[in-house]
Amino acid sequence: MTNQVPVQKNEYIDVKFEDLTHEGNGVAKVDGYPLFVPNCLPGEKAKIKVVKVNKGYGFGRLIDLYEKSPDRVEPDCPIYKECGGCQLQHLSYPGQLKAKHKQVKEVLTRIGKLENVVVHPVLGMEDPWKYRNKAQVPVGEREGGLIAGFYQKRSHDIIDMEACLIQQEKNDKVIQSVKRICEKYGVQAYNEQTHKGTLRHIMARYGIKTGEIMVVLITRTPNLPNQNQLIQEIIDSNPDIKSIVQNINPKRTNVIFGDETKVLWGDEFIYDYIGNIKFAISARSFYQVNPEQTKVLYDQALKYAGLNGEETVIDAYCGIGTISLFLAQKAKKVYGVEIVPEAIEDAKRNAKLNGIENVEFAVGEAEKVIPKWYEDGVIADVLVVDPPRKGCDETLLQTIMEMKPEKVVYVSCNPATLARDLRILEDGGYTTVEVQPVDMFPQTMHCEAVALLVREKHSS
Ligand code: SAH
Repeated sequence: MTNQVPVQKNEYIDVKFEDLTHEGNGVAKVDGYPLFVPNCLPGEKAKIKVVKVNKGYGFGRLIDLYEKSPDRVEPDCPIYKECGGCQLQHLSYPGQLKAKHKQVKEVLTRIGKLENVVVHPVLGMEDPWKYRNKAQVPVGEREGGLIAGFYQKRSHDIIDMEACLIQQEKNDKVIQSVKRICEKYGVQAYNEQTHKGTLRHIMARYGIKTGEIMVVLITRTPNLPNQNQLIQEIIDSNPDIKSIVQNINPKRTNVIFGDETKVLWGDEFIYDYIGNIKFAISARSFYQVNPEQTKVLYDQALKYAGLNGEETVIDAYCGIGTISLFLAQKAKKVYGVEIVPEAIEDAKRNAKLNGIENVEFAVGEAEKVIPKWYEDGVIADVLVVDPPRKGCDETLLQTIMEMKPEKVVYVSCNPATLARDLRILEDGGYTTVEVQPVDMFPQTMHCEAVALLVREKHSS
């Protein structure tokens, strides 16, 4: 064997970090062999211990940091290391934005072969903390009391948490008080091992524009001890609580929600706005967790769509119709398609709520429904896609290339699949004009971007 791995497990070595992975690990190379080490930044020198050796790459643990990056900051969160929810708190916010920009630029070049495409600087948040509008925490027991927080990295041990620094403070406070009230009334925590106990998760959702709060108790069994007093005390704990909902999940599973949902008090929905569009959000509705930056992302998509009121638009992977409703205000007609039936119910309700009539929503796979629309004579001038992490289905891309909308606006939560799909569309007669990354999830490695593609003039 010539390709011998140049390091051994448990070996201590000095390295210099060159790069950052999409998971937030530092990358150092030993004779070309990459080692991934958490909590290390490009430019830093350190002693590490090799902890895992694979054929093509290995993992290490930071032992001693000799030379720090100027972008390194002390993480504010006391539970940053154990939690794993954030990966970039040790990198300054400007450093995070630079890293995300580099990631987009790199994959577009490497996977998409789009060396020259303009990638604008990432649009970040003025205050990149306390942005999440939804908290969903597992509940456990310690010395007879209830704890609620997060699973320790790579385990199912629950760590109690007072506050999460990327969470709206309102949600943290609501969860703290609901936990205390449930404890007072003798609600038992669900135990994964024995499949006994009651309370599995507490969820809090906050409408940042309306101030309305929803509390969801996810339980194994329908019964709650002292239910009336318990609910009354939750109501009294915060005047902004507009809805208390119970979801029952009797199964032995990691999946959080069960099939049965009932309103214990108040409304079935809370409301929130993105821009001037009002959304009704139920316990199970998908809703963007950072609405402030969602507005930034959708404004960009709208700008790229460049609508004048005459266009037919298709919004593939439309979810609860967020982008569709945004675009409908400026287009002649918008068609939205989404695979989850409940999301389409929400989309229709939201259209009605806003008096928007020039939209039509369908349940189904985008790659099946859009070809059918095309057969029926629907031809989009602008086609928007916002697929899940795995990117667009190839059949859908083929249909786009046949239908030939003048513009494609691609909203992506995964730069690698964005790059792959842009290459396919480029080969099919589209040109990528520009890409605008938007930071929807500060302190984490997640990176969203929106790309504008136009049909080349000479391709017919
Ligand atoms: N545009 C929406 C949601 C985007 S998330 C918003 O901004 O809120 C991606 C959505 O694609 C999810 O709602 C998911 O349910 C849906 N989805 C996944 N595979 C799909 C497919 N093959 N066809 C249509 N929708 C799909």
